[in-house]
Amino acid sequence: MRIDIRKKLDFWRFYSFEQEQYQKCMDKLFINNLYNLHKINIAFAICVGCSTLYPILVDKDLIKAGIYLTVAIVALLLAVFANYKMQTALVNNRLIYILTTLFYINVMSFGIYMCVWATPDKLATTFLCFLICALLMFVNSPRFNLSLTLGAIIVFTISTVMIKSPENYFVDIINTCIAGLISLSFNWQITRLRIGLELSTSMLEDDRDKYLDQSTTDELTQLSNRRDFMQTFQRYLSNYRTSDDWLCVAISDIDFFKNYNDHYGHPQGDECLRSIGRAFNQLKENLGVYAARVGGEEFAILWFEKDISHVDTVVSDMTNLIKELKIPHAKSKVSEYVTMSMGIYVERCGSTTDEQTLYDLADKALYAAKGSGRNCTIVCGREIAQYKIPV
Ligand code: GH3
Ligand code: MG
Ligand code: MG
Repeated sequence: MRIDIRKKLDFWRFYSFEQEQYQKCMDKLFINNLYNLHKINIAFAICVGCSTLYPILVDKDLIKAGIYLTVAIVALLLAVFANYKMQTALVNNRLIYILTTLFYINVMSFGIYMCVWATPDKLATTFLCFLICALLMFVNSPRFNLSLTLGAIIVFTISTVMIKSPENYFVDIINTCIAGLISLSFNWQITRLRIGLELSTSMLEDDRDKYLDQSTTDELTQLSNRRDFMQTFQRYLSNYRTSDDWLCVAISDIDFFKNYNDHYGHPQGDECLRSIGRAFNQLKENLGVYAARVGGEEFAILWFEKDISHVDTVVSDMTNLIKELKIPHAKSKVSEYVTMSMGIYVERCGSTTDEQTLYDLADKALYAAKGSGRNCTIVCGREIAQYKIPV
């Protein structure tokens, strides 16, 4: 029977996660890897940089010092590069793999140089430590970690056998293999824990987003609900206090909607509200205004204007959207289709008027629109004369 080793080492299977879960978490963790790469390269550069003093002061060997320094500089450059990429947020998995490999080659070359050439009579303790530590820092695929570890063991074994005496290399090779095994098993455990943690965090975040969404969205129309409207209104007033723009508060109400329900039935009334909700959602996308369903068949819209005369254009965009829906309304006294009346109150952003007062003033304008025959808009404000925009 053919055993497909590649498949056996498929990451998600290896860590007993679903492929999708695994991939989602890995994508997030890879960014952490870049941060780790930055840290570990700095730490390595400092360690090797300080060790340069030893060959200079004790061995008086400038070539050795030069090699130490080169390794430290390479680590520093890798740290700077990782930092640059972190800031530009240009992170992808390939970059992480390349940077991890470069870091690994740098560490391994230094380890082999130290244990095989620089101190051939000593055991390869430094190298073993590097081998263990390097992989523990990163969450990579087990295939990648296995290749790096096996590669390091093979390179180290060949160099040791070629340079060292048989009584030294035998113990070294056993130590390396043990180090490799420890490295792989620890890396597996750590990666599993980190993915598991990431998974539960992202599940909690998803739940939080879902509940937050539910508490601020109106189920029927998918617009924001009254609670979100009041919070947004409050936020707009406090955030834009220093701005010179006008804040426009509009309240829109369906005309003769009770008659509509009585005539067509409540489910059809709901369908009508859904259609109007879709129109307002489109308005949000097209004009960047904020829209919410604040009551049964009442909608509120907030937006900013630099030029107050532009309000009429926004109003005509809104009324056109409702007009284009062409929802038949046999029991309306103003049109054969569903229409809306709207009241708008405009106020300078810097004013100290609170949101409830502004809302009540816009509501008053809506009543004025209803009183002046419906299917129209009344615009008013402290600094402007009230006027009517017929449809
Ligand atoms: P006006 O032109 O003065 O606004 O008249 P109107 O009939 O629209 O006003 P009124 O406030 O008397 O009626 C509002 C109606 O809206 C009453 C209620 O049956 C209906 N309504 C409120 N919420 C919902 C809802 O969620 N679904 C449906 N289908 N109808 C609703
Ligand atoms: Mg109504
Ligand atoms: Mg109403």
